[in-house]
Amino acid sequence: MTEPSIVVGTPDGRKPDLSHVDTWVFDLDNTLYSPAACDLFVHMDRRMNQFIAEYLKLDEAQAAHVRQTYFKSYGTTLRGLMEVYDVPPGVFLDYVHELDLSEMAHDPALDRAIARLPGRKLIFTNATERHACNVLDRLGIAHHFEGIFDVAAAGYVPKPQVEAYEAFVKRHAIDPATSVFFEDTARNLAPAAALGMTTVWIKTDRPHGQMAEGDDFVHHVVEELSDWLHALEFAVAEIADRAEGG
Ligand SMILES: [Mg+2]
Repeated sequence: MTEPSIVVGTPDGRKPDLSHVDTWVFDLDNTLYSPAACDLFVHMDRRMNQFIAEYLKLDEAQAAHVRQTYFKSYGTTLRGLMEVYDVPPGVFLDYVHELDLSEMAHDPALDRAIARLPGRKLIFTNATERHACNVLDRLGIAHHFEGIFDVAAAGYVPKPQVEAYEAFVKRHAIDPATSVFFEDTARNLAPAAALGMTTVWIKTDRPHGQMAEGDDFVHHVVEELSDWLHALEFAVAEIADRAEGG
């Protein structure tokens, strides 16, 4: 097993080397777009509060408290609502993901960066496949991905529960040893690392996503995904050049 290395960006002499990777797995929200540029979670949180307030006959403050408590205790608000109140997951998810994505723009730099990565690309999200398709279309990167593994595919068991990762790996015949997982919620990387995947934490300002001291399941830290992937691409190209040169 290799030593975890914490690499922020591409500092001198510490280019990340992912030349062993043939399967590129990405979380969706706040990983493939920055919450600083487009904070969909503000809108999703509002939609969740509205749903909870209507469903449980609560006022807005009480609903927000329920949402935050369930998110912390169950991994997602939905899981808590399902376990405590038997809320139908499809009804909740469709309501929450009725979002205006008009402020989300195409990302040509990310498009180019992903295009150069050798191997399969997959989405592994706690959101719905429909939401993932909408976001990928807005970003202009949908064509890169051979599959989307959403919370319904995981039987509504969300990350970071290990069963979600096991179901994902099985469904898409993934070899963790040659896979890398990009994710903005640091704790969601722990089960991936335990399975043997390389992990990359996308650093954001969101409080719940932060990495804690001693989180050795985080192998790399990235502040700007496209730039990091472009730099990585250079490393991969160098290896190809070396192989050709004999
Ligand atoms: Mg995320």
